[in-house]
Amino acid sequence: MTDINPLDAPAVDAAVADALAAFSAAATLEELKEARLAHTGDKAPLTLANRVIGTLPGAEKAAAGKNLGGARGRIAAGLAARQAELEAERDARVLVDEAVDVTLPVTRGLTGARHPLETMQERMCDVFVSMGWEVAEGPEMEAEWFNFDALNFDPDHPAREMQDTFFVDPPGSGLLLRTHTSPVQVRAALERRDALVHHGRGIYVVCPGKTFRTDELDATHTPVFHQIEGLAIDTGLTMAHLKGTLDHFARAMFGPHAVTRLRPSFFPFTEPSAEMDLRCFVCEGADKACRTCSGTGWIEWGGCGMTHPNVLIAAGIDPDKYTAFAFGMGIERTLMFRHGVADMRDMVEGDVRFSQQFGLEI
Ligand SMILES: [Zn+2]
Repeated sequence: MTDINPLDAPAVDAAVADALAAFSAAATLEELKEARLAHTGDKAPLTLANRVIGTLPGAEKAAAGKNLGGARGRIAAGLAARQAELEAERDARVLVDEAVDVTLPVTRGLTGARHPLETMQERMCDVFVSMGWEVAEGPEMEAEWFNFDALNFDPDHPAREMQDTFFVDPPGSGLLLRTHTSPVQVRAALERRDALVHHGRGIYVVCPGKTFRTDELDATHTPVFHQIEGLAIDTGLTMAHLKGTLDHFARAMFGPHAVTRLRPSFFPFTEPSAEMDLRCFVCEGADKACRTCSGTGWIEWGGCGMTHPNVLIAAGIDPDKYTAFAFGMGIERTLMFRHGVADMRDMVEGDVRFSQQFGLEI
């Protein structure tokens, strides 16, 4: 392109016409940007012509400045006008392209959620956490000592036999899959013993988790199931504290009218021991045909009692100085009667239609 003399008005007008034509020809904002750089950028003919002005003699300098100033003004106005047109077109197009038809049918993608057993376990723990208890966990493969000996089971107690317990090879390894979450109670007591003995800090823990027994899977049994147990060790604890704790737990889980009842029983690790029943929250004992309680008015929920002195001794705690209570229940069983689940297999077979009935809690 030949250099333009800033005093050559027809040449300047021609450059302006070129620029305006290029702006009109630009069909998009991108193309307009290219045209702008070509006609107003550092290498544009009128920009180069502008640089010559400084070298001209005085009288010609003014004429050339006027000539170019007018030309650049017309180019700027043309550019702004085309810019506004193209932006308006783009905005109109966006409105059309991005319009959402709210009458179209939605696609319902499935979102994952946690298993109802998990959320039930968490809900149960929350009741105790809100009272200042701690949640304690322990290993699923456990030493026989923690699972049985420390809990005051006799060496020949029938629960230790192969037909109830999964032992870990090799025979005599002293390892097994825990048959209850009670060994976590012993571990928790050992870990917190110093704070209790030296600082008077009572031990209040709940222990949720998986447990294992050699049962066949059927409507009411599963070889892997979940328990939650509670343990409180402090000075002056009595059965009244145990009963009050269980009643509070029952109300938190089943509503303000829930009550529990204790029936004498026997466990190696508590003395005295009791079975714990829940007043039927469906019929409250008024319906002989009630399916939740089989018409008895009560639902067996778990076991409890005052922790046996030998268990405290195993954890290094003086039973003459401290007393303790403990309780435990199955989480599957709680889910079954709280939600009317008739068959335990539904909980372990992984059919998403089962979980979906509980909603999608995350
Ligand atoms: Zn009932």
